[in-house]
Amino acid sequence: MAKFVAWFRSLFLLELLGGLWLTLKYLFRPKYTLMYPMEKTPQSPRFRGLHALRRYPNGEERCIACKLCEAVCPALAITIDSEQRADGTRRTTRYDIDLFKCIYCGFCEESCPVDSIVETHVHEYHFEHRGENIVTKPQLLAIGDRLEAEIAERRAADAAYR
Ligand code: SF4
Ligand code: SF4
Repeated sequence: MAKFVAWFRSLFLLELLGGLWLTLKYLFRPKYTLMYPMEKTPQSPRFRGLHALRRYPNGEERCIACKLCEAVCPALAITIDSEQRADGTRRTTRYDIDLFKCIYCGFCEESCPVDSIVETHVHEYHFEHRGENIVTKPQLLAIGDRLEAEIAERRAADAAYR
């Protein structure tokens, strides 16, 4: 019986007709296609894009050079050097992230005790020269300064789940 059904389906091209019917149905439905980059899909507050280092409202950098993010990074993408300041606090002298190595897992962000290193919503960036894949501390701080309002807003939106 099964053989007969297969023969019947194959003789009358039922699979093909089924496929064509499906295509026809979707032809008149609203399109899922977006006109990127003019149109964009909604983005979760948890989206993990380009990194940033944040500051406190008084301008002091949050990072205390504990190196937890460096230790937890599975891709070994973070390199930190640090020194003690005259006031006894510790701060980084170097904070590099190799974006070619980074897998955007978010572990660095999760591990940071002072909400310093974060991943922003920015996913549209590119490099034009060798070495630009290494983002340095001044660059990360500049990204954080530029996007602080959005970063704070997104973290507040996701606060209940942290
Ligand atoms: S997102 Fe993951 S891979 Fe990228 S720097 Fe952070 S911990 Fe490393
Ligand atoms: S970014 Fe956070 S986890 Fe990484 S060294 Fe600074 S304080 Fe520590």
